[in-house]
Amino acid sequence: MPGEVTLTRAALDFILHAARNTYPEEFVGLLRKNKRGEIAEVLVIPQAVYGTNFSSINLYNVPYTSGHCGSIHSHPGMSARPSRGDLAFFRVTGEVHLIVCYPYDENCVHAYGTDGKELALKLAEP
Ligand SMILES: [Zn+2]
Repeated sequence: MPGEVTLTRAALDFILHAARNTYPEEFVGLLRKNKRGEIAEVLVIPQAVYGTNFSSINLYNVPYTSGHCGSIHSHPGMSARPSRGDLAFFRVTGEVHLIVCYPYDENCVHAYGTDGKELALKLAEP
């Protein structure tokens, strides 16, 4: 369905785990889809690359720039709404973006398009 994002259970588990482990810092990564078009892989971006000015992010420092479809990052607060800096980051990292907010359970993951509009997110069938 257009405007719908599918995430595998393994990718979801990884994201929640990484977000909890990084808290209260933000966890940042790039997303990759599998052959079925499901978000299945998370490529972690070193914290040092993730500055306050996302539009200047140097993706040449990221070892896996090919084939990613979007980004994931965590918010240490209860809001998963993208900030203005997030939108700038979205524009340089792909089409599908996930934000996971505190307390990092399944319902804390939200998907957005590059324009910041929320997309429906569902779990892949096993
Ligand atoms: Zn953010």
